[in-house]
Amino acid sequence: MKSQIALAVAGLLSATAAHAEPLAINADVVSETGAKNCWLLIDSENGDSILDVFTSEADVPSSAKKLKYEGYAYPGLIDTHNHVHYNSIPLWKPKSFFVNRYQWNDEQNKSPQNEEYFDNVVDIFKANMEASGDVMSTSIKYAEIRAIIGGTTIIQSSYYTKPPSLPIRNLTGSLVANSSNNILKIGNEKLQANAAKLKSKELKRYFLHIGEGRADDPVSINEFKVLRDNNLVTPGMVVIHGVALTKPEFKEMADNKMYLSWSPRSNINLYNQTTNIPAAIESGVTVALSPDWTISGSDNLLGEMKFAFDYANKTWGAANPVTPERLYKMVTTDAALTAGLEDHFGQLKKGFAGDFFLAPKLDQNPFVSLLKTEPKNISLVFVEGKAVYGDDARMVSLYNDVKEADLFTDKLEVDGTTKRICLFDDATCNKQRYKDVMYLLNHCLPKVAPLLETH
Ligand SMILES: [Zn+2]
Repeated sequence: MKSQIALAVAGLLSATAAHAEPLAINADVVSETGAKNCWLLIDSENGDSILDVFTSEADVPSSAKKLKYEGYAYPGLIDTHNHVHYNSIPLWKPKSFFVNRYQWNDEQNKSPQNEEYFDNVVDIFKANMEASGDVMSTSIKYAEIRAIIGGTTIIQSSYYTKPPSLPIRNLTGSLVANSSNNILKIGNEKLQANAAKLKSKELKRYFLHIGEGRADDPVSINEFKVLRDNNLVTPGMVVIHGVALTKPEFKEMADNKMYLSWSPRSNINLYNQTTNIPAAIESGVTVALSPDWTISGSDNLLGEMKFAFDYANKTWGAANPVTPERLYKMVTTDAALTAGLEDHFGQLKKGFAGDFFLAPKLDQNPFVSLLKTEPKNISLVFVEGKAVYGDDARMVSLYNDVKEADLFTDKLEVDGTTKRICLFDDATCNKQRYKDVMYLLNHCLPKVAPLLETH
């Protein structure tokens, strides 16, 4: 792994099958400045990175298998905040709104309002998942499938058990700390120890839920003060949500090179309010977009982009900075910065990760086209230079024939289209395939979330 971040990557496709020779993919390759027709050269046998980028077909090595795609190649989307182990639980739409995150998840103070959460979410989770590491790890695998069908190739995760073989990369590792705990419960000692690690670069990023509550909620507002009191208003700090923050805090964040991970759908569903993104962006804060989890957020980043775009247009009018271009950055380059992965991810260029996906040209503007893209439209997804997911016919073609494709990949239906996913893992010898994932979840959970919810 060439990234400075130690990414836990497990269970990617055995290179014994698909495209053992180098693969040259021709598409309109998208970057922050637009789209340019190029050839991306990858070879999963020789590293996980893009080996080269050519503008002329004449420069493509003759040994490479060529794939001409009439559409866009986007960098794999980076999900900077999620709780993946919950994502097999169906969507929860609370009957009324909460003031902050402690109101709905407070087991000590159950009320008619938050009891609904425990009935619908926690009880399913506790009774059926924590009881079995298999259910937990399978739920994580299902969550990653739900993410990859929307073009995500890196997701923030948290393991309760040994990582299963997973289809996409996980943002974990010794240089990234992540806690979903109440900042007050973490305690000053631990907070200050992490502040010192950020300062000494022992830690590159520290993710904390801060200000996840309404702007008039004193508990949520106070959390930024707790950060300040513990030396955590400092470079490398990532604020998850920041709904209650105002311009002065965003200014402090920008001055201290802090980052924000924004989850509008989940915020609106839970609090009927989300972060003041115009103020954050005007202050100079780098903002990434993330679904939070699928229980109250989007199924994947494509869905979150659509929600964010519509919400921002409706809410912020002329002051709205959430353009299609900005949203693209929030899930690629700015997400990479937020995750501390900017040296190897978020762009498609020589030496960067072979993580990308192919999607049709639904608009001449690649950023608008991405906003229009639905999971069913996504043709192929590459992780570490390997085709991990895609259209049935395209995957069969990459695996040479149906027999070979059946050996290494599994069919699944995504919004009426037939796709294939590779869950095959060398280490576990093909232990758990898609049908096994669904069988286990369907038998152990009262209800399993669909790959795509109706929001
Ligand atoms: Zn969260």
